[in-house]
Amino acid sequence: MDDAEKLIIIGSGPAGYTAAIYAARADLKPLLFTGGQIGGQLTTTTEIENFPGFPEGIMGPELMFNMSQQAEKFGTRFAFEEVLSVTQEACSGLFVVTTSGGAYKAQAVIVATGAAARYLGIEGEKELIGHGLTACATCDGAFYRDVPVCVVGGGDSACEEATFLTRFASKVYLIHRRDQLRASKAMQQRVLTNEKIEPLWNSTISAYHKDAEGELSSVTLKDTQTGAERELEVKCVFMAIGHQPNSKFIGNLADVDAAGFIVSQPGSTATKTPGLFVAGDVGDAVYRQAISAAGMGCRAALDAERYLLTLS
Ligand code: NAP
Repeated sequence: MDDAEKLIIIGSGPAGYTAAIYAARADLKPLLFTGGQIGGQLTTTTEIENFPGFPEGIMGPELMFNMSQQAEKFGTRFAFEEVLSVTQEACSGLFVVTTSGGAYKAQAVIVATGAAARYLGIEGEKELIGHGLTACATCDGAFYRDVPVCVVGGGDSACEEATFLTRFASKVYLIHRRDQLRASKAMQQRVLTNEKIEPLWNSTISAYHKDAEGELSSVTLKDTQTGAERELEVKCVFMAIGHQPNSKFIGNLADVDAAGFIVSQPGSTATKTPGLFVAGDVGDAVYRQAISAAGMGCRAALDAERYLLTLS
């Protein structure tokens, strides 16, 4: 086991960084793989008002940068690589984490890979991403000044994105498949009282249309009650219909539920494989908050620490 890491943490969101802070302070010298989106989903959000300790709010990227600094301060090592798979050696019981840069062995692993934005899955969607279709208002909102845009979804993300986009767009349509928002009351209030936002109830997008340059120019809207269709001119669609947990790479080492969320043991962050733990959105189908992810990261680090003690 000499060349093996004690603990590998996969993911650089609030769960991964919090796990790293705790594990590093416990002298486990964790190695953390950041993945492609360093800092995770919160780096694509604006102000976070509900993370305790910041009465004035804090910008998502700043919060994540602070967490990474805190993890580094206690000795976390970072590898800027994407994890492709996790397997386990039958003879040694060590985990083998294969990344874009090589293969690494570890006695314990915490999976904190979060979730990725979902799209509608309709024709021509992939080619339009980056050409008038995106899941990140913070990243792309400023490119669409004084033109009409739309947001798809009815949750907190959709409301947050729609509100943010009113800074730039001439008009923001909020396309929701039902006639009631899922978002929190405070978020709903903000959207429904904003003159620049027009909710389009009982509606979905059934087709995208592009101009001669391949940029999105309009969408076909379908009424979910009557099936009637009409065209809506928008220069960008901001998708906010939830996220898909990033759990595929874990193979058979952990059970996942029907939606792909990694299942942990009751009252613990342990998966079905001893030494493999889960934290954050990839294992949380219910709460999915920055603070609950951070809390789960703390629990995973403590669970991993206890597990490692049983090996020595
Ligand atoms: P969400 O709450 O799951 O909402 C997804 C929305 O997309 C729902 O309104 C859903 O419609 C709609 N939708 C799903 N699939 C669709 C499809 N195929 N076609 C059309 N519409 C579809 O996701 P979220 O808004 O990303 O929020 C996730 C979690 O993060 C939540 O717990 C939320 O509270 C939290 N969050 C918090 C904040 C904050 O506190 N600042 C900000 C963002 C997110 P239905 O309503 O009909 O199901």
